[in-house]
Amino acid sequence: MQITATDVAYTYMKDTPFEKKALHNFNIRLKNHTYTAIIGQTGSGKSTFVQLLNGLLKPTEGEVTIGDWKIYKDTKEKELYFIRKRVGMVFQFPEHQLFDETVLKDVMYGPINFGKSKKEAEEISKEMLTLVGIEPDLYERSPFELSGGQMRRVAIAGVLAIEPSVLILDEPTAGLDPQGHEGIMNILFQWYKGSDERSIILVTHQMEDASRYAEHIIVMDKGELAMEGTPEEVFAQQKELEALGLGIPETVKLLKLLKEKSGDKKINTVKFTLG
Ligand code: ADP
Repeated sequence: MQITATDVAYTYMKDTPFEKKALHNFNIRLKNHTYTAIIGQTGSGKSTFVQLLNGLLKPTEGEVTIGDWKIYKDTKEKELYFIRKRVGMVFQFPEHQLFDETVLKDVMYGPINFGKSKKEAEEISKEMLTLVGIEPDLYERSPFELSGGQMRRVAIAGVLAIEPSVLILDEPTAGLDPQGHEGIMNILFQWYKGSDERSIILVTHQMEDASRYAEHIIVMDKGELAMEGTPEEVFAQQKELEALGLGIPETVKLLKLLKEKSGDKKINTVKFTLG
């Protein structure tokens, strides 16, 4: 689904002495089936923006569209139900949301809640548990008996079982070791590649993930869009990135990584000078 934000602003605690403008003058257009990474310093508005994409927050100004659905100041809860069916969210530490008696029941909760029959919910839940690498012998276990990494996978399967078209990931591997991190990132990428109707928006501090998986990068600064483009285009702007507090050594490393990965002649022509 195509995603747009048009003249979007979001202010926390509007019309109070604590008013805080977190997002302003924000315009973006993402094509169907795109893997987008959002980077930027802490407090730049990344989480605020992604929460607008399924109506957890509603814009104080402007509008967001997800396919044919619109989210604006007065969008009703009833309409948000349909949007939440299409836009899945995986926050940091999603395993904190696990609650049911067994792994399988926990994953089935979402699809049943969104109108699937028990049989359909069971089918899709098993499919997603397989995708995330959870073996059938764990289905009847309590999710709380699993390891941290397994709990994270079950929680992700629960979001995928709703069959979203857009998956929002806000630091989905926080707290995992490098191996766990890579495992989850690969599973999510595999899910994305599984259908050309699927999109991912990943909020990350890890530039390496942005360059490795994303086709499009959005750079945010102080609640505004600072830069956007392909990883090659964005990481070539080292001076601008440095000015935004997103360091030089890393961008140089990432350009190398991209060059090695693609062997793309275009990247070889990118010029940068070390300060
Ligand atoms: P990021 O995800 O890039 O770290 P956020 O979207 O969380 O940025 O925050 C953007 C700005 O909004 C920051 O200045 C932050 O302090 C502020 N903010 C975030 N959440 C709240 C909230 N619940 N109440 C008030 N201000 C908030």
